[in-house]
Amino acid sequence: MASCAGSRPQPHLTVAPHAQIPHALDAPGFRQRHEARTDALTGLPNRRTLDYEVVRAVDLASRTGTALTVAMLDLDHFKSYNDDNGHQAGDRLLALCAHSWRDALPANAFLARYGGEEFVALLPGLDAAAALPVLERLRESSPGHRTVSIGYAVREDRESASSVLRRADAALYDAKELGRDRIIAAW
Ligand code: GH3
Ligand code: MG
Ligand code: MG
Repeated sequence: MASCAGSRPQPHLTVAPHAQIPHALDAPGFRQRHEARTDALTGLPNRRTLDYEVVRAVDLASRTGTALTVAMLDLDHFKSYNDDNGHQAGDRLLALCAHSWRDALPANAFLARYGGEEFVALLPGLDAAAALPVLERLRESSPGHRTVSIGYAVREDRESASSVLRRADAALYDAKELGRDRIIAAW
């Protein structure tokens, strides 16, 4: 296309047919970021995302003066389940647990796969009295007659994310020691 002296050449504009316009969700950056945040087996947020979200939840709780309960869940005798039924069946059970537990939680709760057969739930706005029935529902919703042990901690005033997580983990350890299939509050 000829251009007049002193004027810039005009870009040649074409409109892509609809089918050629990339969908936002198909953009490579989006997919990579989603995969980096997500556990491939269960579809839940992964530990990296949990580490980020628990700090955010603690920050929100301290700014707004609202409660935050952190719960750590661990399937009981999962190694035996793998040994008896095979690793693939174990994988399926993990995915089913993730699905059932996610459904049993309120919409504003956050559930992540922490690693192996351990999961973490963040329950914003819930103190011990409000969190307990939610965790009880979660415990009862484990699929395949499997049992789960749960330790939970209600964030104390000015408590950090790592501290409240550590207390939930210690409570989970107590739940295992006391015989599993139970919910134990942190000190
Ligand atoms: P406890 O009641 O004390 O928690 O006993 P447990 O058998 O659940 O715990 P243990 O730590 O002895 O074993 C955990 C098992 O979880 C062993 C490991 O092979 C299995 N596991 C971890 N990640 C995965 C996974 O992604 N898929 C499958 N199928 N198994 C996994
Ligand atoms: Mg474990
Ligand atoms: Mg276990």
